[in-house]
Amino acid sequence: MQPDTAMVVADFDAIENEVKKRRCPCGGRFENKGESSRPHGDKRLRVVRLECRFCEARSRIYFDVSGLFH
Ligand SMILES: [Zn+2]
Repeated sequence: MQPDTAMVVADFDAIENEVKKRRCPCGGRFENKGESSRPHGDKRLRVVRLECRFCEARSRIYFDVSGLFH
């Protein structure tokens, strides 16, 4: 997932739920390795860094959290 296709979320619980739902291609679950915020154009993005608990593959998910700060 790229910044331009960030998932729009209404609250931080939605981010947690998405992280729990995701699976690595190997079938492993991801661990949240940290989150950061960054602007993207006129949007506000939350970047969640993930690491597979099984194969240690790394991934990141972008969320559009602009709505949370209005
Ligand atoms: Zn994996």
